[in-house]
Amino acid sequence: MAEFDLIARIRTCAGSDRRDVVLGIGDDAAVLSVEPGMQLVACVDTLNAGVHFPVDTQPSALGWKALAVNLSDLAAMGAQPCWALLSLSLPSAECPSVEEVIAGLTHLARLHGVALVGGDTTRGPLSLTVTALGQVPAGTALVRSGARIGDAIVVTGNLGDAAAGLMLATGQVVAQSHAVSETLRKRLDYPTPRVAAGIAVRGIASASIDVSDGLLADLGHVCAESGVGAAIDLESVPLSAEILSALPRHMAQLLALSGGDDYELCLTVPREHLETALVALRGAGCAPHLVGRVTAEPGVQVLDAAGMDVTPRQRGYEHFS
Ligand code: ADP
Ligand code: MG
Repeated sequence: MAEFDLIARIRTCAGSDRRDVVLGIGDDAAVLSVEPGMQLVACVDTLNAGVHFPVDTQPSALGWKALAVNLSDLAAMGAQPCWALLSLSLPSAECPSVEEVIAGLTHLARLHGVALVGGDTTRGPLSLTVTALGQVPAGTALVRSGARIGDAIVVTGNLGDAAAGLMLATGQVVAQSHAVSETLRKRLDYPTPRVAAGIAVRGIASASIDVSDGLLADLGHVCAESGVGAAIDLESVPLSAEILSALPRHMAQLLALSGGDDYELCLTVPREHLETALVALRGAGCAPHLVGRVTAEPGVQVLDAAGMDVTPRQRGYEHFS
C-alpha cells in the first residue's frame, strides 16, 4: 500500500464534527478558527519503538498513548484540547496495523472532542509524533513557575502503576494474578490524561506539571522554575491496590517517586484554596491526594513518617543519561 492510500485510510477514520476546523486533512495545511479572547496552547511529543514503549505494545495502544501524552501536557497547562496532527513513521504499510493505530488515537480523540486535522506519513523506524493544540481564556494557562513557599502539593491519582506495568511487560517481576498485571499494563499502555482536572484548577492552582518522568523529577522542574523546594511525605503518596499486590511496599514507593509514564498532574495550591481545589478535582473525576508542601530549601526532599529524610538517589527517566 502506498503513502496516499494510507493517508486516505487515516482521513476516513479521523472524521470529526468540530465547526472550528475550516480545512482538515487533505490540503497542504489545516485551517483552524480560534475564538476571540482565547490563547492557543501547543505541544508536541514523540513515541519511539523500544524507547517509549515495549516492542510488543498493541498498535491501538500506540495511537492512544501518542495522543494521551500530548493531551496530558495540555491538561497540565489547564488547556482545553481541540486539534491534533500526527506524524507517523512506519517500517511498512502493514506493520503495525495503521487502522488499529488510528483507531486507538481516534478513540481517545473522540472522548475529548479533538479533531485530527493533519500530519505526515513516511517510511522509517516505528515512531509516532503528535502535535496537539488547545485553548485557554487569555492569561489563564497554568505554568510551572508559580509555586510559593507554604503551598500544598497535590497529585491527581495513584503513582507508580505505569512503571510497575513496564516491569511486568519486561519480565522483571511476575504478578500473582492476571487481573493485576492487566490493570498495571493498561496504566502503562492507555494512560488517562487529566484534562478535566487541569481545567478545573485554572485560577486555583499556583503551579502545575504532568508526571511523565517521575514525581521527583517533575516536581523538581516546578521547584527550579519557581525558585523554591519541596517536601514529600512518603506515606501520603497514593499507591494502587494492584501495585501493592505486585510489589513489596518499598519498591512500589520507589516506583511512585521515580518511575515514569503516570500522566497524573502534580499541582501546587495555596493553602487557602486547598479545599476548593480538592473539591474541584474530585468533581473532575479524579482522586486527589495531598502529598507534601512547598519549602524554601532548594530541591525535592522525601520524608518518612518520623520526618527522616529518605530521598532516593534515582530521580527519574532521562534520555542520554
Ligand atoms: P504535503 O506533501 O503537501 O505535505 P501530504 O501528502 O504529506 O501533503 O499529506 C496530505 C494530507 O494528508 C495533508 O493534509 C496532511 O496533513 C494529511 N496527512 C498526511 N499524513 C497524515 C497522518 N499520518 N495523519 C493525519 N493526516 C495526515
Ligand atoms: Mg507532508
